[in-house]
Amino acid sequence: MKKNLVIAGGGHAHMQALAELGRFVERGHEVTVIGPSDHHYYSGMGPGMLGGSYRPEEIRFATRQVVEKAGARFMLAKVETIDPAAQYVHCDNGERIYYDVLSCNLGSQVPEDVVSGPLDDVFLVKPIERLLEARQRILQRGTAKALRIGVVGGGPSAVEIAGNIWRISREPAMKPVSLTVFAGRTLMPDHPRGVRQRARKSLVSRGITITENSRITDIRSGGVTDAEGTKHRFDIIFVAIGVRPSRVFAQSGIATGPDGGMLVNGYLQSTAFGNIFGGGDCISFAERPLDKVGVYAVRQNPVLVHNLMAALEGTGMQAFVPGGQYLLIFNLGDGSGILYKWSLLFGGRLAFFIKDYIDRKFMRHFQAIE
Ligand SMILES: Cc1cc2nc3c(=O)[nH]c(=O)nc-3n(C[C@H](O)[C@H](O)[C@H](O)COP(=O)(O)OP(=O)(O)OC[C@H]3O[C@@H](n4cnc5c(N)ncnc54)[C@H](O)[C@@H]3O)c2cc1C
Repeated sequence: MKKNLVIAGGGHAHMQALAELGRFVERGHEVTVIGPSDHHYYSGMGPGMLGGSYRPEEIRFATRQVVEKAGARFMLAKVETIDPAAQYVHCDNGERIYYDVLSCNLGSQVPEDVVSGPLDDVFLVKPIERLLEARQRILQRGTAKALRIGVVGGGPSAVEIAGNIWRISREPAMKPVSLTVFAGRTLMPDHPRGVRQRARKSLVSRGITITENSRITDIRSGGVTDAEGTKHRFDIIFVAIGVRPSRVFAQSGIATGPDGGMLVNGYLQSTAFGNIFGGGDCISFAERPLDKVGVYAVRQNPVLVHNLMAALEGTGMQAFVPGGQYLLIFNLGDGSGILYKWSLLFGGRLAFFIKDYIDRKFMRHFQAIE
């Protein structure tokens, strides 16, 4: 029997579902994909796009084109709320869409609590596409005058962003750039000592200032203020203070986990509503907390595809097994990286070479569908 499948958000966790949309359409299901952009940008290559290693078209996936080619409907909109009782998704363009089965991949956002006023020359690290605007802005302002750039945050994103801003500062015609990272307590506190040391050495050796044990309490165009009330003036500011899951679920009265993500069981199915599924940063996995990394979103792909079809057709579902330790590689912006998994840890050009190879392969695989 023909049913309505709504795919909310076309991010990492939905890549395989998007690639296999034709299968759902062929079986007579009506499929609608909702997303705020015609393209999805791959975050793993976002800092590299900022630095200029990648062109935007190398790191993005043509969501609308893929959806329409498969015979499904693409709606350019943001999901605002979900009405799980009536089974409608409400969008910011005023449309409401009925679903029999809904799959959510709404990602995460940088919390804006400490950001005030208009975001002129303040760049949050998500959405990734804004990093392109940031690059253009640095080049535009930095060729006219010396720039002071601040990066608020001390995790991997902040390190990658700072390293890649340094890369822009090496472009011809750029005036001097002074770069400060406000790392909070310390740089990369959740990573092994060897990773922390390599990241610090790499940034400091390039003249980047790392400020630790200082909490930024206010960020606005022109500068940031720390907990002691000291103001630091900057021409351009990046905000990389971590992410939190989409608020759509909390605002829709759908059960959420401690981090605010939609609480899902082992089948990636809402614990409250059996016809709602989800993956990636927007979910809170009931069995154990999962890091907000693309690796889990990618691992969830086949399970989501299987379970969406199962929910539409009343067949058996598959359980998601998160798997063990995953490989992490950071792009330091100077052609080098830091790679680690288990006890394997090394830095340098080989680490970046491996990251570049894996990331390009991932993109080529999904861009082939376009
Ligand atoms: C700078 C940076 C670098 C990173 N590098 C890495 C890395 O190298 N490796 C790694 O494993 N992880 C990395 N991460 C983490 C990784 O980005 C996330 O874990 C991953 O993107 C999660 O995938 P997702 O599918 O949940 O979200 P996303 O890939 O962000 O996809 C969410 C999608 O939903 C759409 N969307 C958002 N809101 C709505 C809405 N209301 N309605 C409809 N659609 C919506 C968005 O447009 C987007 O297409 C990085 C993160 C950042 C910020």
